[in-house]
Order: sequence, then structure tokens, then C-alpha cells
Amino acid sequence: MPPPPFFRIPSELRNRIYHFALLNQRPQFYVANLSVDLCYLEEPGHIEPYENENLRWLLTSRQILSEGLDQFYTHAKLQWYSIWSCDRTNDLTLDGSTSIFDLGRVKAAELSLQMGKEHHERDGKSYDLVVPRGKEKWEGKDEDFAELGKVLKSLDQCAFQDLKLMVYLFRTFNKTRNYEDTGNRWVVDLGAGSDAGSEGNNENEEADDQDDDDDDYSDSDSDSYSEGYWNAYGTNLSDPDWINGYLVDFGFLENLGTQWKHIQTEYIPTYMLAYWGDGDPVAANIVAVPIIQQGLAEIAKVLIGGEGWTIQDSLEEVEHGAARWLLDANRAPDDERVLELKHTGLRSYVGDCEGCYDEEETFTLHDDRGDGIIRFMAGKCGHVVELETPVVGREM
Ligand SMILES: [Zn+2]
Repeated sequence: MPPPPFFRIPSELRNRIYHFALLNQRPQFYVANLSVDLCYLEEPGHIEPYENENLRWLLTSRQILSEGLDQFYTHAKLQWYSIWSCDRTNDLTLDGSTSIFDLGRVKAAELSLQMGKEHHERDGKSYDLVVPRGKEKWEGKDEDFAELGKVLKSLDQCAFQDLKLMVYLFRTFNKTRNYEDTGNRWVVDLGAGSDAGSEGNNENEEADDQDDDDDDYSDSDSDSYSEGYWNAYGTNLSDPDWINGYLVDFGFLENLGTQWKHIQTEYIPTYMLAYWGDGDPVAANIVAVPIIQQGLAEIAKVLIGGEGWTIQDSLEEVEHGAARWLLDANRAPDDERVLELKHTGLRSYVGDCEGCYDEEETFTLHDDRGDGIIRFMAGKCGHVVELETPVVGREM
């Protein structure tokens, strides 16, 4: 029997047809204990809801399923997942139980990482340790990627090679911008709880204790990266005067595996309310941001296979916002090890302006001549904020 007419047209044309049928589609499926959202290329302004219905044509025949999925995985991206055990009736299946989608064939991922801090004592000194915000069982969040890591290890194959990682340092709270722009999504998800310090940041030394009553999301039975926990919500970095330093440990990102060939990390600066006192302290960020950036560069070497790499950074100007720091890491031949960081440090931030009383001025680093004073200038009114070069542990 000759093949049906559809299969007599050249495969390149069939792939074009699959491509247009898949465009902007965002299927959802389950693998182990995860609910996984994928997308196939997304044109700006054409965001579709996460629906499987539009992809039922894949079930037309085994050949269409096979060819359609081959096309799908050329541009499929992991966009979101949550820890979720529920019935799988929504999955697209051929046999009623096995999803047609396979996480092991997805090559790209775009994941968000929300960081917080924990108080850390070492050798009698106290530090702010920057850690993943933790897990929130009700919301199914897996902020240290541990559950995803377990699933990836259990797969027969893992095709992941392109990673985009959006890193937020806890509250990037910005009152009027939409949350996609500011990284405010977690604050929105969790609703109330934005009670952070009307008296500055001194209170935060206590705020990270496990038994802190204010922390509605902590799990007092466990306090580790691998089990459910939630570090104090809405706290800021401690003022440099009050601690001995800032530490990072991005080792948990190894949960994502070391098979990546290209990693782009985007660091989104915290929102700072410079004089209301309930934002992140600028002085703390001046000291901590370069440490966070160095840590992200070091872990990129590991995720990229740890043999050869080229890692470079750049700054992306954002309209009505603080500049984003981008780190681009690419796998390279064994003997090539290029690490060039030229744009580290707190370059700009959004905060209240004492010059024009605007609550959302973008301040950009004006000069840091090493004379002990660092100056940031407001973009709209030109007001200059002068800060003493922060010294850690001065008032301890
Ligand atoms: Zn101003």
C-alpha cells in the first residue's frame, strides 16, 4: 500500500507543518513527582496557556507522533516545574498512562533561582550565607533543584545543553513594575509577609533562626537544602557593619548536572528602598554582589563539564530598572580556560530618591575612585548618593 499523501510530501515540508502547528505551544506533563511545563519557541505576544489539547494532532498516527516530537525537541524548553503528585489524566498518552513527552530529550531550560540568606557562624565569626530560598511544600517549589536533579539522574538519557538561569536575591520588590520585569513573582505568590524591618536590618540577625515565629513558611523539623525548608521570608542582607562577611555556596546547582554546553546566568539586582529602611541595604550589596557573581562564575565551570570553558560577563541596560549582569559560559576545548569578568559589582539599583522623592529612581554607579566614597547618581533628577566604602564587621 503506498504511503498516504501527507507522507509523500518531502520531510522538510512536513517538518515545516509540524513547526507551525507546534509554535507557541506549551504542553504540560508529569515525570516522577514533577509536573513539568515545556514550551516550543515562543513568539513575543503570542503566549498560549499551558494546554495539551492543541497538541492532540500528535496522536493521529505513530509516524506523525514520531516526526512531530522530533521537531518538538529541536526547540522545546523546560520553563517551569513543580513538585506535584496528582492524577495524570491531563497527560497526552497513547496507552492511557505513559506521557508522549520525555524530559530526557529536552535540550534547553530556563529556570529561576530565588536566593535568600541564612545566618552562619564559623570560627566564632558571623556571616550572611547566601542560600536558595528553600522549598515551599504547598506551592510545590523546588528552589535548590534537588527534586529536578533526582529526576534527571533517573532518566535513561539527558539531552540538556542550554541553560538560562535567572538569579534573584530575595526581595526584588518593586511596587509598580510588573512582576516579570522585576522578579517579584515569589512575593506575589506568597501574598502577605512583607513586614520587613521598619528599623533597618539589624533585626535580621535573629530572623533566620529555625524557630523564628515570624517565619510562617519554615519547617521546624528540617533545615537543609534537600528537605522542606523555607528560610526567613523577606529578610535582607545584613548591614556590613554587623557581620564579618558574606559567603556563597552555589554547589547545590550541581543538582542540574554537568552536561551543559552553554549557560547564561542573569543576575537581577535587589530592589532597595534607600531611606525607608525596608529594602536591601546598598552597602551590603556593594560587598556581597561581587561575591555572588564570582560564585556564579565558579559554578558555571562545573556545570559546563569542568574541563574547558570560556566565561565572560556583560551588562544589559534595562529600561526603568537596574542593569542586569549577564554571565555567558560556553564549553570549550580542554586547554581553553578563559574567565573574564569585567562588569562585576553593584552597578545600579532601583530605590527611593531623596532628591525628587520618586520611589523608583534608578541609581547608577557614578564613581568609585577609591577615595573612600562611592557615588551613585539618580537617573531622572541627578541626585547623587554618597556612601562610605563599606567595611565589614566594624561595629561588632
Ligand atoms: Zn530623583
